Amino acid sequence: MSDIVQLIKDKDPEQKEFHQAVIEVLETVKPVLDRNPQYGKENILGRITEPERVIMFRVPWMDDTGQVQVNRGFRIEMNSAIGPYKGGLRFHPSVNLSILKFLAFEQVFKNALTTLPMGGGKGGSDFDPKGKSDHEVMRFCQSFMAELFRHIGPNTDIPAGDIGVGGREIGYMFGMYKKLRNEFTGVLTGKSLAWGGSLIRPEATGYGCVYFASEMLSVKNDTLQGKTCLVSGSGNVAQFTVEKILELGGKVITLSDSAGYIYDEKGIDADKLAFVMNLKNIQRGRISEYVEKYPDAVYTPADAALDYNPLWNHQANCAFPSATQNEINDTDAGNLIKNGVTLVAEGANMPSTPEAVNIFLDNKIMYGPGKAANAGGVAVSGLEMSQNSMRLNWPSEEVDNRLKGIMKSIHTSCVNAADEYGQPGNYVAGANIAGFVKVVNAMLDQGLV
Ligand code: GLU
Repeated sequence: MSDIVQLIKDKDPEQKEFHQAVIEVLETVKPVLDRNPQYGKENILGRITEPERVIMFRVPWMDDTGQVQVNRGFRIEMNSAIGPYKGGLRFHPSVNLSILKFLAFEQVFKNALTTLPMGGGKGGSDFDPKGKSDHEVMRFCQSFMAELFRHIGPNTDIPAGDIGVGGREIGYMFGMYKKLRNEFTGVLTGKSLAWGGSLIRPEATGYGCVYFASEMLSVKNDTLQGKTCLVSGSGNVAQFTVEKILELGGKVITLSDSAGYIYDEKGIDADKLAFVMNLKNIQRGRISEYVEKYPDAVYTPADAALDYNPLWNHQANCAFPSATQNEINDTDAGNLIKNGVTLVAEGANMPSTPEAVNIFLDNKIMYGPGKAANAGGVAVSGLEMSQNSMRLNWPSEEVDNRLKGIMKSIHTSCVNAADEYGQPGNYVAGANIAGFVKVVNAMLDQGLV
């Protein structure tokens, strides 16, 4: 195993996030490799850590002042052993090969856990939609799809949203794909309802994460009723995480964006959440505006000089990191424990550093890693693909019930795999092992391809 990690580091020394994601999985699947010598003989680790295909391309577009801009586009087609490549597109200035390979790698195991037939992929661009006009975003999306279209398809690779890619961007990309291919197909998920989208897809990641948290609590005969929760982020995942926590009787006291966070001691109720949804989704404003509307709340700007995030330093029972990777470091994890947090459910992908994860595991709190806890989003994307194939739409209760069922089944798979390999209560080991075994067995069945 250490050979593979060394090989990966030697091949791409700068891909730190990818190394982090690989090491985290490989460390936990060691007992599986010990029990199955065939995996070693077939060099399964070498194969599973190398993307099946990496596509990288130029995305030229014209801004509103007539200047020509150039961004980089990517699609990582990581693994198609159990279904077509599936995973989101991220538009954010931080996007590079390392970030997308880590996300694609995580996606492979996450998708395997959903019970649906989806392989793993991820893509995106270093384009920053923040502050761009709708027309600029449209021109960028069209140029991006003018290249991506030849690599994707409803049975090949089905992208969706992620950070910086929501309904607006999916719409522009879908329009361009349809024009180029002269085909109306389910090639993207996260579409609008009127043209092939699924009910509950916008809600799915946040709702699913809270369902997963409820499953973890139910093992201890507990619920979210009366629990105080810290939520980071204020985008799609955070918004619907708050909505579901409120519905289940919890209280949420924080939200954030890249510039800072708000602390609302009285709790973010349904009216305040409606304000945030309008602010972020329609006005495309910043979370700092929350305190202009609700002056009892406190806004704290992000401070890069601090080695911790004060958002994680409030008295609470549960934490739902829903912003981005590595947003909880060891100091933050220590602060969470010190402040009484006994449950962490990750709405974001890899929001906790390896040191933070170890602190959660050492303290034996309920810790639901992203690839299990946030799988609800891609799961409902899978249900959107099913509905597109059948050319019909399920009512929201049907999709929501299926989502609940899938989150329950992911929870059960994690618990069973962790028990089977002697690590009861360890959802990191459980999720990695359950996802890994499914994908690896499919790869072996299909031979050396
Ligand atoms: N970007 C989401 C994730 O990280 C959703 C992907 C999808 O729906 O394909 O799982």
